Amino acid sequence: MQVFKFGGASVGSAFSIENAAGIIRMFPGPKVVVISAMGKMTNAFEELVKAYFSNNSNGKAEHFRKIKKYHNDIMSHLSSKNKIDWSDVDKLFSGLESRLKVTPSMNFDYEYDQVVSYGELLSTTIISSFYNAIGLTNKWIDIRKCLITDNMYREANINRELSEEQIKKAFDLPGCELIITQGFLGGTTTNHTTTLGREGSDYTAAILANILDAQHVTIWKNVPGILNADPVFLPATKKLDELSYREAIELSYSGAKVIHPKTIKPLQNKRIPLFVKSFDNPEQKGTIIHDIDHILNLVPVFIIKQKQALITLTPEDFSFISIQTVSNIFSLCASYRLKVGLIQQSAINLSLVFDEPEQGIEELIAELHKNFDVRYNTGLELVTIRYYDQEAINEIAKGRRIYIEQKSRRTVRLLLK
Ligand code: ASP
Ligand code: MG
Repeated sequence: MQVFKFGGASVGSAFSIENAAGIIRMFPGPKVVVISAMGKMTNAFEELVKAYFSNNSNGKAEHFRKIKKYHNDIMSHLSSKNKIDWSDVDKLFSGLESRLKVTPSMNFDYEYDQVVSYGELLSTTIISSFYNAIGLTNKWIDIRKCLITDNMYREANINRELSEEQIKKAFDLPGCELIITQGFLGGTTTNHTTTLGREGSDYTAAILANILDAQHVTIWKNVPGILNADPVFLPATKKLDELSYREAIELSYSGAKVIHPKTIKPLQNKRIPLFVKSFDNPEQKGTIIHDIDHILNLVPVFIIKQKQALITLTPEDFSFISIQTVSNIFSLCASYRLKVGLIQQSAINLSLVFDEPEQGIEELIAELHKNFDVRYNTGLELVTIRYYDQEAINEIAKGRRIYIEQKSRRTVRLLLK
């Protein structure tokens, strides 16, 4: 069995949904296909849930209309040549509409998951119905019933034992060559929908592959494979033909957007190879992530994270930064869900770099102010270069202010303005 994952860009139009059907047909054997919300729909659903939560009825109506139109346009393209039964899609839209009429609870993260999850429910239902109509026979599985999580809404943690049991049961469909299911979603033991964190569909694919002992996983993307830099930032990019699991984890953790950082562990644990391939050129080799025992001679790999914030703390009484202090600061950051990506410490300074939060962190800063002198900068860029050389550093840092530079044997990390 193999697992395929199609992200938003690979199912963002009727044309690309047909293209994905071609890819599925190209590779024989049973498949589990994990699909994200179409195009940029998750962002659109985020706007919808914000309007819903803040009782902004005009905004709510407007976003709902846009989302419905986007899907309807795709559906009418798909049904121009084929007769398709869209009744399951209609049910989803009426379910969403009724949900939006109910007064929201006070828990935003909970409401977020209940609403934003419609992105994946719609995409998989539309695609499954269309594929069945064109003879690509498949079964649709509601992943929320088998990928069991805790109730950390928007960042749910998977309950491995319960999920394994449910998934093995639900996916055991003798004679079925194609299963379609949602990425990014899970469900609690009390039947509430959860999500696994933005871009979490890769992780879903990896978990399913692990539990179902897949031969390999393929993530279909709009790039030829994993590149040594994001072409948006650096024009002369090179494709990396292969990576070890360890290298892939380092790259994705540092912010390389090609794969979700949690994806590698479930695959590495069962030595399941991961391919990253282009959906425009499916016959090309792409990148393979697998067990490697030879030395990889990699070109410098650049990972750029924008919108970074830097907090520098100095104890007001000039006392040293102790382990206890660090631990307290980290639990405070965790309670604000800040993901610290870089730490630098000296005798009386502690600097933390993290993604700029959506909402202000005035409260956190006020809290820290009780004991520390606090400096706070935003709008920075965190650049990680694996396999760096001086030329690579010069290229990226030329004419810019360097706030932090950290070097290890293989990696340099620069915080730049
Ligand atoms: N649709 C979700 C998102 O855009 C999950 C994913 O694409 O992996 O974040
Ligand atoms: Mg996506």
